[in-house]
Order: sequence, then structure tokens, then C-alpha cells
Amino acid sequence: MTELASTDLAFNNIIDGKLVAASDGATIDVLSPSNGQVFASISRSSQLDVDKAVKSARRAFESGTWGKLTALERGRLLMKLGEKILENHEELAQLEALDTGKPMTQARADITAAARYFEFYGSAADKVHGETIPYVDGYTVAVVPEPYGVTGHVIPWNYPAQMFGRTLAPALAMGNATVLKPAEEACLTPVKLSELALEAGFPPGAINVVTGYGHEAGAALSEHPDIDFISFTGSPDVGTIIQCAAAKNHIGCVLELGGKSPQIVFADADLEQALPVITNAIIQNAGQTCSAGSRLLVQQDIFEQVKTKLVARFSELRMGSHEMDLHCGPLISAKQQQRVKSFVDQAVASGLPLLAQAQLSPDAPVDGFYQPAALFGPVPRDHILAREEVFGPVLVMIPFADEADAIELANDTDFGLAAGVWTKDGARQIRVANAVRGGQVFINNYGAGAGIELPFGGVKKSGHGREKGFAALHEFSTTKTIVINHG
Ligand code: NAD
Repeated sequence: MTELASTDLAFNNIIDGKLVAASDGATIDVLSPSNGQVFASISRSSQLDVDKAVKSARRAFESGTWGKLTALERGRLLMKLGEKILENHEELAQLEALDTGKPMTQARADITAAARYFEFYGSAADKVHGETIPYVDGYTVAVVPEPYGVTGHVIPWNYPAQMFGRTLAPALAMGNATVLKPAEEACLTPVKLSELALEAGFPPGAINVVTGYGHEAGAALSEHPDIDFISFTGSPDVGTIIQCAAAKNHIGCVLELGGKSPQIVFADADLEQALPVITNAIIQNAGQTCSAGSRLLVQQDIFEQVKTKLVARFSELRMGSHEMDLHCGPLISAKQQQRVKSFVDQAVASGLPLLAQAQLSPDAPVDGFYQPAALFGPVPRDHILAREEVFGPVLVMIPFADEADAIELANDTDFGLAAGVWTKDGARQIRVANAVRGGQVFINNYGAGAGIELPFGGVKKSGHGREKGFAALHEFSTTKTIVINHG
């Protein structure tokens, strides 16, 4: 990586195009999830730092350096950043894996996806057109898309590099100036990616990054009176806080709050096709994925068959450090590992059948935050494990009787993010896809590709608004209606 100013050990904020420490010099230690050891530090930003970042974004938005660029010029900058990410792919992947504990293969895929966000939205920037409306004789009406102005972005720790691209690229493509507060547990690639953005030619203030704790920097950003829109991905509880802050400032927000997504397997499904995908959809990123397929609904007739095959698969899963690049890495933190462990321990204590678990490699470093992938079933529909988002590698199997029962069960959840449907019956594919409540339904696949082109978001407790695809360009912009009387 060329001349990036953060050292290997101390990662700074990026405010107004400069790398700066927190105003009071405060820092937070960064731990490697693979071995629990401190290896770096980030700035612990305060309200003052956030205020500087918002002021910088406001200046950039109002000025010619960013706010007056054409869509084509913005798009070129985004694509240039996409190129820079690919040029620095391996270094970024190493950093992402070290910071999050995810296996190298996953980290590499994440960096490719981060680049893809900037490629996609860079090339889309000048393709968002307005419309004209037939109106009263002698009038012409134009509806023109416009950026909000300054957008705030609070992201979680599970996919820091991807989330950087997912939330910032469409906002920037539409001409907003941005302030990002990444998660304190994993924010090193967002800092590096912002440095790369400066190298790519983004002007000061277009992308500001303030690291730190949620209740400090995150709260200061979401409550700031001079942001015009906020995007949040994370827990439902913090989503509520963010939405209340947005309401007080009378601004809009997009919330992506996780899920308890069903994988529905009918008796006619191709299990050879389905089961590897179903397994991957819960072990990817050690289950710390908002759209993880964490509820496996299986038609009663094939329940035992599916169970036997999955027990074999789960028993073969291996877990180790990010460098070992096995099926699963550690969880993000000791806190998250304890949270997932307590779900598993309580389930076992309540008599739930623990069918199979992944094995920790004997070569894995001690003191990492390892929690084996676990398969439970049959799980009663009202059990906490069948209802709450664990955010770890825990798959629950629940039997269903017929199509109507499957749909009722799939929708019997507070969440509504994604769903998988496995059946060869074409009419059933459509019926079930229409009936399931959620933002995405996959038929005979689940999360294929990185999905940058595909609108993504939830209903119910999974949140509202859409990111990814062209939908995000509309999410991060508003319209102005111009009514011209030309007689
Ligand atoms: P979180 O919601 O607390 O954190 C997400 C982001 O919000 C982080 O950047 C954090 O610093 C920030 N934040 C926290 N408190 C804030 C506040 N008061 N104001 C503004 N910003 C604030 O998530 P977590 O504690 O890291 O994880 C808890 C649970 O959330 C997980 O176990 C999981 O169930 C869920 N989660 C979901 C996603 C997702 O992608 N949907 C991601 C991470 C976590």
C-alpha cells in the first residue's frame, strides 16, 4: 500500500482530508479475535471530533470541490477508488482478516466486494435521471434527483470493508458528503479505504471517518443537528436509538437490523445442491451475518434424511485463526463469543438436541474468541433459539407439514430480511416467494454472489429502507419538483 499515513499500530481519524488523532488524544486498543492480543489502536473520538467531521462534510458539500462536481466526475472518482482497492487487495484482505478474525478466503472476497461497490456506483452515478410530468397547459414540470447534503453512516463490525462500500458508495455517487462512524471492534479497513480515497483524488470532506465508541462518537453523529440523513446497520436496540435521534432532527434514516432468516426445504428439493449452500449460509463469517440463514425449515417427510446429512457436514467443519483459513474463524470479541455460547449452553440445558458441532483445530492460538458452529434439531417453534438472532454459527432445524405450514412458520418471526426456498416445483417457488415477508427471497440458491446489484433491506424488526442496487441511489437522494410556467 502506498504511503498510507496511519502506522501499523495507530489508526487515525480522517477529517477534512487529514489524518488526525482524537482531539484529546484518547485511543482504544484493538484486539485480534484470533488470539485475543492487542495489536493496534484507534482514535476514541468525542463529540468535538464528530462536530469537526460534520462541519468538514458541510463545507465539502457546499463548495465546488465536491458539491459542484458533475455526476460523471463523481463517478470517475468512485471508479478510481475501486481500482485502488483492487491494487491494494491483498494488504487490505490481510488487515480485514487480522481485525475481524475471518478466514483469509472470506476476507479476500470481502475486499473484492468493497471494490465492486465503487465500480458499480461509480458507473451508475450519471445514470440516475429525473422525469417530466404532463401538467397544466403552458407548464413544464421537472422532477430532479438531488443529494440530501451531509449523510451520517454508522456501521457494524461484521463486514467493515464491505459495509464501507455498501453505505458510502451510493451516497457519494449521488453527491452527498459523508461522515462514517465504523464499529469500535473492527474499523481498520474503513480507515485505510478512506486514505485510499484521498489518494484516488476525493477532495477533503467528501469522506470523513471518526472511530470510537457507539455511545460517544456514534451518538454524537446520529444526534448532530447538521446531518441531513443517516444510515445504520447493527442491532435493533441501537436502531431504535438512531431512529429516535433522526426523528428529533426531522431527518430520514435507513435501518438494517438483522434477521432470523428461514431456509425452507421441501421434500422434492435437490439436497445435493441445497445442503452445501445452507451450511455455508450459517457458517460464513462464523454466522455473524445479518442475512445468515439461521432457521432451517424442513418438510417432515425428509427431516431425518436432512438431519443425517447435515450432522455429517457439521462434524467435518474445522475452526481456526484467520491465517489458517478453515471453515470458520473466531467470533469478533469475547463479548460476542460469550453471547453465542450462552445461547448454546441454555439450549443444551433446556434439553434441546445438539446434533453436531465444529471442531477447533489444535493449532488454533489459545485465547482466541472461538465458538464452534452448532446444529440443533428438532427445535420447538417457540424456543428462544428459534426466535432470537444469535449472530453466531448456530443452525436450528424445525420440521413443517406442508406448504401452508411452511409459509406460516417462515413468517412467524419478528424479523423479515431474507429467505431461501428449495423446491423443484415452479408454481410453488412463486407462491412461497410471494407469501414470505422479507426483503429478498432466493429460490434454489442463497446469497449467490456478493449481491451488489440487488436491492437489500428488511421489513418488520429487520428495519426499513433499501441499500445495494439502484435502490440505494434513491435511498440516498431526494427529489425537487420544478414547475415552469412558459405561457
Ligand atoms: P450495535 O448495534 O451495538 O453496534 C453497531 C454500530 O452502532 C457500531 O458502530 C456501534 O459503535 C454503534 N452504536 C452503538 N451504540 C450506539 C449509540 N447509542 N448511538 C449510535 N451508534 C451506536 O451492535 P453490537 O453491539 O456490535 O452487536 C450486538 C448485536 O447486534 C449482535 O449480537 C447482533 O445480533 C446485532 N448485529 C447486527 C448486525 C447486522 O448486520 N444487522 C451487525 C452487528 C450486530
